[in-house]
Amino acid sequence: MLSNSKLGFGLMRLPKDESGNIDLQTVSKMVDKFIDSGFTYFDTAYIYEGSEEITRKALVNRYDRNLFTLANKLPGWLLNKQEDVERIFNESLERCGVDYFDYYLIHSVEESNYDIYQKYNCFEFVTEMKKQGKVKHMGFSFHGSSNLLKRVLKDHPEVEFVQLQINYLDWEDGLIESRTNYEIAREHNKPIIVMEPVKGGTLASFPKEVEKMFKDYNPDKSIASWALRYVASLDGIMTILSGMSNEEQIDDNINTFKNLVLLNNEEKEIIEKVKYELNAYPIINCTSCRYCIDGCPKSILIPDLFKAYNGELTYGKSPIYKDYYDEHVKDGHGKASDCIECGTCQDVCPQHLSIIEYLKDVSKVFDK
Ligand code: SF4
Ligand code: SF4
Repeated sequence: MLSNSKLGFGLMRLPKDESGNIDLQTVSKMVDKFIDSGFTYFDTAYIYEGSEEITRKALVNRYDRNLFTLANKLPGWLLNKQEDVERIFNESLERCGVDYFDYYLIHSVEESNYDIYQKYNCFEFVTEMKKQGKVKHMGFSFHGSSNLLKRVLKDHPEVEFVQLQINYLDWEDGLIESRTNYEIAREHNKPIIVMEPVKGGTLASFPKEVEKMFKDYNPDKSIASWALRYVASLDGIMTILSGMSNEEQIDDNINTFKNLVLLNNEEKEIIEKVKYELNAYPIINCTSCRYCIDGCPKSILIPDLFKAYNGELTYGKSPIYKDYYDEHVKDGHGKASDCIECGTCQDVCPQHLSIIEYLKDVSKVFDK
């Protein structure tokens, strides 16, 4: 079941055109580069806005079905009755324009939704889809605690792979538990798909003095390539998903994976030093997945406001960040101070962020 190469194309953060729609022309070019370079794994999801349709147009309609593998996911937080499971699955097949998914995942399993997946027999449903040939391999993506991961793997030994958030910054993080979850998956002999290897872009650019630590060692390698090689150097990794947003990123990732060189000990030590330096910048660890936006009664563009805040915190005060903030609190989108503390966003945040508290910090900086 291993794909040809470890790099997977995450179709979550796709480029947009001036009108705010996903840019089909650019995505098609990115798909062409990816496939021409010998890569095959594409990852979409029912909840990635516009992603399934663009997958159909840029990939499925343009390439022979045998030339690529496609992963999709079932979102538990949209299930309100039993029939929703089959409805969503069929909608995904239709939107993507395919008869089957190579990989189908129960999406973002965590403490707040595992009971829903159990209540609606979602694992059993995917097993049935496998029998019918509509799914080739089943797995789940995971954002919960290590105790829950053990429980899910015990309850469902039928899953063939797990998708985990792994990157060097989260490796020892007490909430994400990358290392512990990785070890549990290995103990259960489950191949691992890595998500967020670059932590939503957080590990792609740093303040100059931190970047210098990487550049002094190897001036030709991008900052993101260190994060990708970190996870590629772990045993048992089946695929590493990178949510690519432009041609430059795809070129860089292809370059990293076509000539993949595992980390040597000296490089591992440099990463440890970089981690230490990064801890001096207490930024909000938002990965821009945007799961929190739809349910917000004030339409607050939470990840965009966090991005402005993180920029100011990391690179210092600048009108750029205030302008960026202002751009994202108009046309009906609330300011940070408009939050009514309903908690809907926090219930779905896979990073377990205290969004309400963070918005208060953001508000102090920008809502003067
Ligand atoms: S807690 Fe605030 S930001 Fe979160 S969904 Fe409610 S109003 Fe929106
Ligand atoms: S706040 Fe959480 S849910 Fe919202 S975009 Fe960031 S990581 Fe995703």
